[in-house]
Amino acid sequence: MHDDIRKALVVYGKKMAELTVGSGGNLSARCPGKKLIWISPTGIECHAMKTDDVLGIDTEGKVEVGSGKPSSEILLHLALYRSRPEIGAVVHTHSTYATTCACLHLEIPAIHYLVGLAGEKIPLAPYALFGTAELAEKVSGVMTESDAALLANHGLVTVGKNLAAAFNLAQQVEFVARLYCQCLAIGKPKLLDRSQIQQARQKFKTYGR
Ligand code: 13P
Ligand code: ZN
Repeated sequence: MHDDIRKALVVYGKKMAELTVGSGGNLSARCPGKKLIWISPTGIECHAMKTDDVLGIDTEGKVEVGSGKPSSEILLHLALYRSRPEIGAVVHTHSTYATTCACLHLEIPAIHYLVGLAGEKIPLAPYALFGTAELAEKVSGVMTESDAALLANHGLVTVGKNLAAAFNLAQQVEFVARLYCQCLAIGKPKLLDRSQIQQARQKFKTYGR
């Protein structure tokens, strides 16, 4: 099981090149019911990460497996696993359009039904320095009702039951963020109302099954 998770981190690490630049971004996953969390190392381009680079940490952030240094956003990942016990993975990227919205301090409203994959909107966490407990607290604070959040002047975080779900959500939020930027460049987007986005969220529960 542990080997499978490490391999999955390498696979999704390679895909991170689609969503982030250089060593920006990081990802982690944990075995259901197990205390160990697997996380990417700091300062490395995720697409270059190898199985042995992936670090196993405990819920306090102590390295249990591996010899490198874990991602500088370790506190952010740990805070999300603490506040959302049901999740199995966290993905953080600096994808272009989501980060554009984050630099404008714009949360993303229900401009498209796919916003419903995350929540009723994509919230914005106020700015805090990268890698700090303050950032971890601000981001986990806005993610109680949403599986994604924009980080002011920084990027995007998504969570999911596993890496596939968290990564897919990061891709979908990037798509929606791009639509939002394009809509704002041309006019004023027409928003879905609360019942429409709730209906979409309900339908996602059985979509594809
Ligand atoms: P790490 O290389 O330490 O994971 O940090 C990248 C990043 O995106 C910081 O917010
Ligand atoms: Zn970052």
